[in-house]
Amino acid sequence: MSKEYPRFDPERDQEWRARLTELQYHVTRESGTERPNSGTYYMEDRMGDYHCICCGHLLFTSEMKYHSSCGWPAFHTEHRDAGIRRLEDRAFGMLRIEVRCGSCDAHLGHVFDDGPQESGGERYCINSASMDFTRSDNNDN
Ligand SMILES: [Zn+2]
Repeated sequence: MSKEYPRFDPERDQEWRARLTELQYHVTRESGTERPNSGTYYMEDRMGDYHCICCGHLLFTSEMKYHSSCGWPAFHTEHRDAGIRRLEDRAFGMLRIEVRCGSCDAHLGHVFDDGPQESGGERYCINSASMDFTRSDNNDN
């Protein structure tokens, strides 16, 4: 595990700036963090899929989401095809594990080891601003 940033790509950066809101850009491309309890999906508990806001890559499903009191959406598992990258983050004098989109390297949040034991003990603490939620329970069937 290493802290390595991809080469800054001005063309890609322009695309992100045009497509994303200010908050989405700050979180995903500048490793920002949205304010606790402020995210769109913190209390979201409908059925559906969570995709990367930048590239549409499938990251989590609602079955992997649970309510934690941390202030951000929490997941105990990532989708088996998500391929989420883990990097050491030593910002603010702490050692944390940062998680990034396996496809476009967008910053998503951090993973901690205080998740539900019955699901493996991990807690993916993810910014709502880094995800796009697609409902799957508003169909007729
Ligand atoms: Zn992505």
